Formats: sequence, structure tokens, C-alpha cells
Amino acid sequence: MQEWAAQLTALQQIDVNLAKLQGQVAQIPERMKHAEALFAEEAAAFRAAKEAAQNAQKTQMRLEAEAGGLVAKRRSFQQKTATIKRNDEYQAALEQLRQFEAELKRLDDEQLVWMERAEAAQGTLAQKAKALALAEKRAAEVRGDLKQFEENCRRQIAELEARRPEAAAAVPEALLRLYTRLRANRNYRADQPCVVPLLGGACGRCHTVQPPQTRQQVVRGEQVACESCGALLYQE
Ligand SMILES: [Zn+2]
Repeated sequence: MQEWAAQLTALQQIDVNLAKLQGQVAQIPERMKHAEALFAEEAAAFRAAKEAAQNAQKTQMRLEAEAGGLVAKRRSFQQKTATIKRNDEYQAALEQLRQFEAELKRLDDEQLVWMERAEAAQGTLAQKAKALALAEKRAAEVRGDLKQFEENCRRQIAELEARRPEAAAAVPEALLRLYTRLRANRNYRADQPCVVPLLGGACGRCHTVQPPQTRQQVVRGEQVACESCGALLYQE
């Protein structure tokens, strides 16, 4: 490999790695958001289950109070009717008592239904509480992992940035300008090389087979660009 190619690819290695690391750091907030969204989903499911369990319990209590009130009403009615003498009044009182019984039966049935619902809601709530605890643990792990990952990336970025000036200074000025212009080209991705080896007579970037003249120039160590993608070619 020509010296210029060695110097330039050393610099390029730093720049490509820097771009990759910066890309990874840039993705961290999105990955964090994803983890938090999963947690928020579990938290919402838990809140909904809690509300459902509370509602079922409230309904149960309301029905119980209603039944209690009705029993008290029936008792006081029975006391009042104990002294009834007339037959028609007695028949009316019986009818009223039948209505009390029917209403109590209805409340009893409803209470049973809600007791089952409350039990089921409690079961669901327990499940959701478990799932939430798991999600909380997972979210904490992801937060910790991402924080660690970001620290690692930033440390490597700092190391590469510290090494870069020396690597750039080793590259001849005109070549450095050409390289900087190439990397700034919008057809190039910062995390991919724009200085590539000639591989089997083809450009190491776009794989276009180069004409014989270009190949000869590359072999001679001249700085020549791929005619298709503009990458700077060198002989490995
Ligand atoms: Zn090419």
C-alpha cells in the first residue's frame, strides 16, 4: 500500500468509527423512549385493572347496603302490620311483603354476580401488578444498559477525537482537502469509507469494474477516483 493510502485510510478509520459511534449515541433517546413506552403500557393496564377492581368492590358494597336497608324496612313494616285486623289490609300487607322478598332476591342475585366479578377483577389486578413489577425491572435494566452504552460510546468518541488531529496532520494537505470534499458529498454516508481498495479490478465501494487505464494508475500508486461513484482508489 502506498504511504498516502496508509495515512489516509488511518484517518478514515477514525472518521468512520466516529460517525458510527455518533450514530449509535443519536439512537439512544429513541431506544429509551421505546423502553419507556413498553413500561407505560403495563402501567396503564395496571391502573385500568385497579379501577375495575375498585368499581366492582364499590358496587358490591352498594348492593350490600341496599339489601341491609331493605331488610330494616321490611322489619319495621312487619312490626307495624302485626296489629292489622281487617282482611283487605292484611292482604295488602302480604302483597307488600312479597314485593320486599322479590326485591331482596333480586339484590341477592345481583350481589352474587358482582362478587364473582370482583373476584375476577382481583385476579386480573394481581396479574397486572406482577406484569408491572416485571416491566419496571426491565425498564430499569434497559435504562442502566443504555446509560452504560452511552458512556462507552462517548469515551470511545473522545479517544478517537483526541487521536484525529495527529492522523489528519500526517495526510498531505491537498489530499486532505480532496478527502474532506469527498466525505462531505451527500452521496456518501459518514459511517462508510470513501477511500477504498481496488478489489479484483473493481471499486471497493460500488464494485464497478475499472477500465484498464485506471487500474494501471492505481497499481502505480496514483490518486485516481472510481469513474462510477467517485471513491478514491488505492492498491492494497
Ligand atoms: Zn466506485
